[in-house]
Amino acid sequence: MFETIIGLEVHTQLNTQTKIFCSCSTSFKDAPNSHTCPVCLGLPGALPVLNEAALKKAIAFGMAIDATINQDSIFARKNYFYPDLPKAYQISQFEIPIVSAGYLDIDTESGLKRIGIERAHLEEDAGKNIHEGEFSKVDLNRAGTPLLEIVSRPDLRSAQEAISYLKKLHALVRFLGISDANMQEGNFRCDANVSIRPKGESKLYTRVEIKNLNSFRFIQKAIEYEVERQSEAFERGTYASEVVQETRLFDTTKGITQSMRDKEGSADYRYFPDPDLRRVHIPKAFLEQVIPELPDAKKARYIELGVKPEDASMLVSDVAIAEYFEEMMGMGASVKASVSWLCVELLGRLEGAELESCKVGAQTLGTLVQRIDSKKISGKAGKEILDALLSQSASQPSDVDTLIEKLGLAQVQDTQELSRAIEAILAQHPDKVAQYKGGKTKLLGFFVGQILKNMKGADPSALNALLKEKLEG
Ligand SMILES: [Zn+2]
Repeated sequence: MFETIIGLEVHTQLNTQTKIFCSCSTSFKDAPNSHTCPVCLGLPGALPVLNEAALKKAIAFGMAIDATINQDSIFARKNYFYPDLPKAYQISQFEIPIVSAGYLDIDTESGLKRIGIERAHLEEDAGKNIHEGEFSKVDLNRAGTPLLEIVSRPDLRSAQEAISYLKKLHALVRFLGISDANMQEGNFRCDANVSIRPKGESKLYTRVEIKNLNSFRFIQKAIEYEVERQSEAFERGTYASEVVQETRLFDTTKGITQSMRDKEGSADYRYFPDPDLRRVHIPKAFLEQVIPELPDAKKARYIELGVKPEDASMLVSDVAIAEYFEEMMGMGASVKASVSWLCVELLGRLEGAELESCKVGAQTLGTLVQRIDSKKISGKAGKEILDALLSQSASQPSDVDTLIEKLGLAQVQDTQELSRAIEAILAQHPDKVAQYKGGKTKLLGFFVGQILKNMKGADPSALNALLKEKLEG
């Protein structure tokens, strides 16, 4: 029987506004080659400058996996030619990466297992080749977007363990807010190094790299296929000729891996320190600026703010929810009302749809809750406005205050206006006023009803207090 040995290399795109060595935008939605400059086009003489935001994100990741943050690290040139890499080298890190020797604990069938992370280094992405009929085109908008390459130790022993590790890593980079990690868009992709060995042996056999996997399902299938291919070759006695160090691609329709090219060794790339970039020195004070807040710490902070523990768990279950909640509070909404309007009213109405693609953003819901907190509108009116916000067309959206106005939902809070309305009703019903003064205090509800008939809404506590004052004073 065989033992499976898997190590994973994950490339996750860091979500910075600008590229790693120039100030071009990292936006993907614009016309091809519209975000380029002499640096990312690789023109001679152009000088790269490291993006501080990318560095901070890499450090935050290193801290989250309890790794060593190397206070001095080096950028290196990795030399190879591709049409989508105009400089003919990629700026990456080789000898001293920013992050080394961390780990991630994953859930397995036999309990928690610690997976070593050998290194995580910063590098730039290449552009994109587009093949159309007899033409091939190159779009360099992606050239120079920052990547964090996260390299695990060969500690994984099955496809299931590999998936468990990847899911945990995927959730972590999203939680840290360092990457959108959208697998369909290819900004969280994985290369798997897979080998087998007879059980009980300790030496490593030939490893095969499966490149560019970008769905959990395909990663699992590709690893399972590769393990079977290598095991069968071993049993047939053709291992030495069939299993060679190479890069293979997974054919998603056929469900098999196919040879792509011989695997390069690091010597093939002729790495050398990039003379255009200085050694990156990270002072201690800089490190302290980027200590990330992990889920448990965030949860504790929310509980401190007055959030119930079960609600706090819900808020930190997804970084999008936690961010939404904090942004609502930033609009001046109270903690308790923010939790209930986000978790109950909004998420309830979304029925499982993604919060990120919701029409009602955190600032809008935060404003709505603030208007309820300040009694400008009632909670009931708030629900009516939320429904209106969710159903309105995206082309002509109204904001909260416009809708309050349009739907006539503002409560009267002005004391003088309330006083006039109260006095008018009391004057119309002198008999009832006398009965109230004689002890029939239940008539309070009657007066409130009559007053509200004449106005669309009133702050109930202000109205009640003023009415009592006039009846009893
Ligand atoms: Zn540029």
